[in-house]
Amino acid sequence: MIDSHCHLDNKQFDTDREAVIERALAAGVENMVAVGTGEGPPDLEAGVRLADRYPCFYATAGVHPHDAAKATEETYKHLAALLAHPKVIAVGEIGLDYHYDFSPRETQRAVFIEQMHIARDARKPIVIHTREAWDDTLALIREHWATSGLGGIMHCFSGGPEEARQALELGFYLSFAGILTFPKAIDLQRAAAEVPADRMLIETDAPYLAPVPKRGKRNEPAYVVETARKLAALRGATLEAITTVTTNNFRRLCLAHRAPRDPHDIF
Ligand SMILES: [Zn+2]
Ligand SMILES: [Zn+2]
Repeated sequence: MIDSHCHLDNKQFDTDREAVIERALAAGVENMVAVGTGEGPPDLEAGVRLADRYPCFYATAGVHPHDAAKATEETYKHLAALLAHPKVIAVGEIGLDYHYDFSPRETQRAVFIEQMHIARDARKPIVIHTREAWDDTLALIREHWATSGLGGIMHCFSGGPEEARQALELGFYLSFAGILTFPKAIDLQRAAAEVPADRMLIETDAPYLAPVPKRGKRNEPAYVVETARKLAALRGATLEAITTVTTNNFRRLCLAHRAPRDPHDIF
């Protein structure tokens, strides 16, 4: 399995990070994507630090919409440079969060657009975070990204069949997280049952939103199997079929177009 989105830089892992990684590997998680947004600019290397240290990690780099107000011209230069790192596979998580509004919406939109341009220049996919901002997120992707042909990931996808259809049409993969296992997530479960097999991914978003039966605890990459299990049940597929297809999807989207091979690369 691949956990395509986790925040193992988070201080909640400071006391047992090594053990968490060991448990993930023991549970069959071959690779994890260390999302590099961290505490926001000027530090853009939260993911890269993990990828440099552990062979099992890939990384992203980017400015989370929460931190958009901290972005400067310097941030953009730094981000563009980081994208040359062989283990940085995508720009993210970027997008819009109108639920918390930690940065002004106008700023969130501007920083999102700028990062799509940087990703396009670097030929890397994007990882989208969107909350209570679906229409604006899609409109900006349509205008600034869709023609790149590079696609991306709707991280922690939590929409229903209609949102899924719109995202798929724009070339995105839907990444399912622990919310999929929550009993009340009926619309999301319907979407997950119907999404084409070649467009789905699994993630934990650890330490947040652990899947049932770990709900309420600190999440960790080993638990991604619970989301895979739920996906299998919803689709009438075997767990093995789900883990194989989601792993292949991740490789196709994020690894296939990388230029130089990195010595840590196990594929
Ligand atoms: Zn997010
Ligand atoms: Zn995240």
